[in-house]
Amino acid sequence: MQVSDKSGFENISINNQEITPSFDAKNPPNPQLIDACVHCGFCLSTCPSYRIIGKETDSPRGRIYLMDGINEGDIPLSPAIAQHFDTCLGCLACVTTCPSGVQYDQLIESTRAQVERNHPRSLPEKLLRQFIFSTFPYPNRLRVLLAPLLAYQKLGLQKLLRSQGWLEKFLPKQLAAMESVLPELTPQAFQDNLPEVIAAQGAKRYRVGMLLGCVQRVFLPEVNNATVRVLTANGCEVVVPKLQGCCGALSHHQGQEAQTLELAKQTIDAFADLNLDAVLVNASGCGHTLKEYGHILKDDPLYAEKAKLFSQTVKDVQEFLDHVGLTAKLSPLQDQPLAIAYQDACHMLHGQKISLEPRRLLRQIPNVQLRESVDASLCCGSAGIYNILQSEVGHELGEMKVTNLTDTGAQLIASANVGCITQIRKHLKLQNKNVLLMHPMELLDYSIRGKKLDN
Ligand code: SF4
Ligand code: SF4
Repeated sequence: MQVSDKSGFENISINNQEITPSFDAKNPPNPQLIDACVHCGFCLSTCPSYRIIGKETDSPRGRIYLMDGINEGDIPLSPAIAQHFDTCLGCLACVTTCPSGVQYDQLIESTRAQVERNHPRSLPEKLLRQFIFSTFPYPNRLRVLLAPLLAYQKLGLQKLLRSQGWLEKFLPKQLAAMESVLPELTPQAFQDNLPEVIAAQGAKRYRVGMLLGCVQRVFLPEVNNATVRVLTANGCEVVVPKLQGCCGALSHHQGQEAQTLELAKQTIDAFADLNLDAVLVNASGCGHTLKEYGHILKDDPLYAEKAKLFSQTVKDVQEFLDHVGLTAKLSPLQDQPLAIAYQDACHMLHGQKISLEPRRLLRQIPNVQLRESVDASLCCGSAGIYNILQSEVGHELGEMKVTNLTDTGAQLIASANVGCITQIRKHLKLQNKNVLLMHPMELLDYSIRGKKLDN
C-alpha cells in the first residue's frame, strides 16, 4: 500500500510495512552548507547532468533543494529522489562555478553515503554494485577475469559481437556499457612488473613514491611505465611500495564509506616511513581522493593526523614536474607541427584546480601546438563508474566530448585519467575518428626517448 505524506511525495511500502525513508543521524548533508546556496542558478549551465537531462532536480541547485527537503522531513528518500542523486557525476564543475562558494562536494559526499545506507536498491542494481566494489579496487581479483577477457578479445569474439550489435541487444544495458569501455588487454596487465625502487638517472634530485592505481595498473600499465621513465629521466628516484592497493577513490565517489576508510588507511600505511619528498599520482580521480584523506579520516583517532600529513605530500605528477622543472632533453614527436587537444579531467580541473601545469609541460615538447575545445570543462561522462551505472547520460556526454575534442582539428588528444581515456577511446571508435589518444606522461616519455609517434 502507498500513501501520500504532506509534501505530496509518496511513502513506500516494503514487505507490507509502510516506511518513510529518510536520512539517518550519521552525518546528514550539513544544513549550514545547504543554506549557503542562494539559488542563483549560475551552476546550472555548467552541470553535465542538467545539460543532458534538463530537469531542475538533476542540477546542483535542485539536488540541494532535495537534500534540504529530506533533512527537514518534507521529502522522503524515495527511489525517484535517490535517482536524482545517482545522476550526479560528482564532477565538481558546480563547485568551480558557484559564486557563493557552496561546498557541493561535501554535500553530495554525505548524501551519497546516506543513500547507500538508507535507500534499498533493486536486486540487479545491488548485485552489479557488489560485483564492481568487490573486484575493481582489487587488482588481483580483477586479474582473475583477465584470461577469459583476453581470450574473448584475441579469438575475435569481441569484434564479432560488437559489429553485430548483439551486446546491446542481449546484455543488460549496464553490462553492455561495462564491456564497451574494456580496453585492449596486453600481457603486461597480468602482473605488476615495476621493481620496488627505481634509481634516478644522473644526479638524484628527489625521492618520490608512486601510486599504481587499481584499474590503471591492469588496464593501462603502459601509463605507469611511462611515468616511471619520465620521473627517473628527470632525476627522481621512484619508490613503488608493493603493499599498495586501491586508494579508495572509486568507493569514495559512490558513498561506500567503510571500504573507503579501509583502503585509505592501507594506502597511508603502504607509503609510511619511506622518507619521500612526495607521493605522486598520474590519475586525476585518485589524486583528488588522496588529497582528501585528511578530510575523509578526520574522525579516526589513529589516522586523522597521519592522513592530514599524508595528503600534504600528495601531488599530481604533472603538478610536481611543472613545479620542479624538467631537466631531461625533449625531442619532437614528429617533424611537422603536432596539434594536441588536452582534455581536462574533472577531478584534475575542478577537484585539484590543475589546468595550466599539464599544458605548460606539453608546450615544452618541440613542435607541439595546443588546441582548446568547446566546453573543455564539461565532464566526458566517465566519472568513475558513472558510464556503467548511468550509461545513457554517460554515453551522451562521451559523444559530445569526443565531438568537441576532434572539432579542434587536433591530431592527438592528451588525457590524464584512466576513466576519461577509456571513455574517449570508446567514443573515438564509435565515431570512426582516427585521432591518437595518450596520457601526457606517455608523450613526455616518447619525447625524452626520442621516439616518434609513427614508430
Ligand atoms: S550552488 Fe551556488 S551557483 Fe548553484 S544555485 Fe546555489 S549559490 Fe547559485
Ligand atoms: S558535481 Fe557535476 S553533475 Fe553533480 S551537480 Fe555538480 S556539476 Fe552537476
